[in-house]
Amino acid sequence: MKNKIKDYTLEELKEEMNQIGEKAFRTIQIWEWLYKENVSTFDEMTNLSLELRKKLEEKYEIGTYKIIKKQESKDGTKKFLFDILDGNAIETVLMEYKYGKSICVSSQVGCKMGCRFCASTGIEFIRNLSAGEIVEQILAVERIEKIKTNNIVFMGIGEPLDNYDNVLKAIKIINNNKGLNIGARHISISTSGIVPRIKQLADEKWQCTLSISLHATTDEKRSKMMPINNAYPIDELLDACRYYIQQTGRRISFEYALAKDNNDNLEDAKRLVKLLKGMLAHVNLIPINKIQDGTYIQSTNENILKFRDYLNKNGITATVRRELGSDIDAACGQLRRKNLL
Ligand code: SAH
Repeated sequence: MKNKIKDYTLEELKEEMNQIGEKAFRTIQIWEWLYKENVSTFDEMTNLSLELRKKLEEKYEIGTYKIIKKQESKDGTKKFLFDILDGNAIETVLMEYKYGKSICVSSQVGCKMGCRFCASTGIEFIRNLSAGEIVEQILAVERIEKIKTNNIVFMGIGEPLDNYDNVLKAIKIINNNKGLNIGARHISISTSGIVPRIKQLADEKWQCTLSISLHATTDEKRSKMMPINNAYPIDELLDACRYYIQQTGRRISFEYALAKDNNDNLEDAKRLVKLLKGMLAHVNLIPINKIQDGTYIQSTNENILKFRDYLNKNGITATVRRELGSDIDAACGQLRRKNLL
């Protein structure tokens, strides 16, 4: 089987090319074709000799995704279902904000975390995506839409820190200034809270934004919503967050999806203030999105605003996240691995 050329960091690709006797500047040319020109075939790399193009074709797979389906929301959000070339399909979302375009990528085919409110739960976990398969989601969207993105969020299907090595490698590729050149501060990783991996990421000292899916303020409630809490309870999770802040100097974003009569009352808000007091943190409140077999119901607007105001009055900055793409099932927690192939 051919190796995927997009699985290599620039350093690794240099090494690969070195082995077939190519000079370093050739690697830069290939890299620019892949990540600046965003070509879909080796044949389009016209400043390489025909011989080298043939060699690349024989040895590597460029891995251009085929689009199976594209949906567009009233608010301009677009959802793509990609054929990832092995019989599997994944979803990727393009969102438009005032400050630019943002792509939400998947990190796994399926997810093992089993969060009860999430549409990615209840379908089988298949496998991790490779670094190149993560990056190709960005390239495919940019190619199809003829756009450039300046923001990437790991908030699609999968738990990014459960696929740590590939996600980190993908970030290196996305960040490389000879290619996509998206700054680490414009890359967000969202996690359900795998404590050892949060600490490991902290030690890398990347400037990525870390988002923690917190969603509850007691272990009892959180374990019901998110089984991962049984392995890493709230105290341990917040200790790891403090360590991340200490190592990186970066503010952490806490995601809190409000569900009626579950986690949206004043007692929850009070506990949340206590938990996050003194921490370099921001709270993103999300009206929980309904999923097909979901047991959770969205909080009322009134409750959401009350919750937000209580946090803000008590020294925790909180905003309500504008939900994009909910009419095409592209909002938080609505993505699924599709078995269409
Ligand atoms: N596994 C990672 C990445 C998924 S990101 C994580 O858990 O963070 C998706 C974000 O949407 C997470 O914050 C997740 O908790 C949240 N989410 C999942 N289902 C949701 C729903 N039904 N409504 C609102 N947010 C949801």
